[in-house]
Amino acid sequence: MSLYLPIAFLSLQVVVLTFFPPSVTVPAAYILMVIAPLLAAVAAFRRGRSHAPSIRSCWYAISWSLAIWAVAACGNLWQEMILRRPDEVSRWAMLAFNLAVVPTTFMLASDWQLRGRQLLRVVDALVALALGYAYFQYTWRMINAHAGLMDAGVIDVAWLLDLQNLYLSAAGCARWYAAVDRDERDLFRTYAVYKLLYLVIVFVNDHYFAPNPAFGPQYATIVTLAFAVLGGFALRAPSSSPVRSVTSVVVSAVRSGSPILLALALLAASLFLIRVDYPWGCAGILIAVLGLGVRATLTQVLQMERGEALQRETSALKTIAWTDALTGIPNRLFFTEALARLWRGERSRERPAILMVDIDHFKLLNDRYGHPAGDGCLQAVAQALQHALTRPDDVLARYGGEEFIVLLRDNPESAVRLVAERLRAAVQSLGIGNLDSPDRVVTVSIGAASAELTDENTAVRLVESADRALYEAKCAGRNQVKLATEPAYDPDATDTSITARRRRLLLGRRP
Ligand code: GH3
Ligand code: MG
Ligand code: MG
Repeated sequence: MSLYLPIAFLSLQVVVLTFFPPSVTVPAAYILMVIAPLLAAVAAFRRGRSHAPSIRSCWYAISWSLAIWAVAACGNLWQEMILRRPDEVSRWAMLAFNLAVVPTTFMLASDWQLRGRQLLRVVDALVALALGYAYFQYTWRMINAHAGLMDAGVIDVAWLLDLQNLYLSAAGCARWYAAVDRDERDLFRTYAVYKLLYLVIVFVNDHYFAPNPAFGPQYATIVTLAFAVLGGFALRAPSSSPVRSVTSVVVSAVRSGSPILLALALLAASLFLIRVDYPWGCAGILIAVLGLGVRATLTQVLQMERGEALQRETSALKTIAWTDALTGIPNRLFFTEALARLWRGERSRERPAILMVDIDHFKLLNDRYGHPAGDGCLQAVAQALQHALTRPDDVLARYGGEEFIVLLRDNPESAVRLVAERLRAAVQSLGIGNLDSPDRVVTVSIGAASAELTDENTAVRLVESADRALYEAKCAGRNQVKLATEPAYDPDATDTSITARRRRLLLGRRP
């Protein structure tokens, strides 16, 4: 259907214009110029209905442009066939021809993909409207200033229209090139192909057919070829071929450059206009400059708002990434970063301590009371440990499974033992039953180590020493604190107190 309908229309047109006498072909030419854009408008409207809102609005914009063009052609038909004044140009038809470009100019300039930018769209719409009006004012002035359509001044009008069509086809091609998905590609490809064809046809018509009395109004009907092509593209099934990937820089450049081009187009049209209509020319320049200024300010405000929202989202995500989902306390990632900040930072001369806290016989608790009870126990232990830590600098994190880790800033050894004892006692005093363990309640074993942090290596060794001390506490009967004895663990020495697997885990390296 996408091909048959336009071909059928064009064939009918050729037959009518070739084989009938002028008494038929002249009115037929005017009627065809109304019907062709109307049919293309219907095709674009139908196509728009099958798309999501942003692309749908663009197809509707094309449809509007074509419908307004058809109204303008109606004005011509009225002037020529009803009023029988073929040498006069109807003001309303001229206005409609110029306003026909407004919806598509707006479509090409505005960024339809972004939500919440209504104000920017209003500015773009006003500039597009001003551009349409500037074209009209200029063409109207020029045509009125010169009696016939073949005057040199009117050739200026033709050049301005060529410039306008060139701008629209170039903008359409740019949007086609920077399309990010199939729907957008189909839309702008259709528009660009149509507009390029329209540019060539209008150029030929305005520069060769119109000034030459040998060519009647029938020749102007070649413009229906552009409408037929547009209708054909619109009726085609959405394409399934993949979109060529374009860098995001190109996409952003085209999207943010399009409204600037629109303002520049208004500026150019106003410079044409100022020669024949000073007040309207000035107004056009003012609107172009104001439009650019307001747009720049609004974009900056929106950008700042987006930046702030992004920052809020990032910090919310960081909180999630650094929190243990079960206990609500910081997780191992947070702890690792806190430790790294410490040895990287100014205070690396401090003597921090690390406490490894492991729940005793937790497997037995899980086995006897079930996993949900085990989870509840982990939450209660986490809370108890958190409350037992008094300094705001202290970091408690869930290291994994039923193991917790504490980072204490700059503490003497005696204080480290006191804090560790307080943590151990806090958990025991919770009195959570674990009947299969020797103490009959949940207890923890704690291994502690402290050392001066100078680099990443010493930080890793500090964790290893604390883990070794924890292992000693477990071996010594559990529910107790053990402090690591210097020197810190040497990875090259043969050490049987912790298994190779555990050591690898701690170091986070392959054996
Ligand atoms: P030990 O006194 O030597 O530390 O013995 P243990 O039973 O506490 O240690 P083991 O490593 O043998 O068992 C730890 C158990 O902790 C095994 C695992 O199922 C359990 N566990 C790990 N993470 C979770 C968790 O998030 N929820 C629950 N309910 N259990 C967990
Ligand atoms: Mg364990
Ligand atoms: Mg354990």
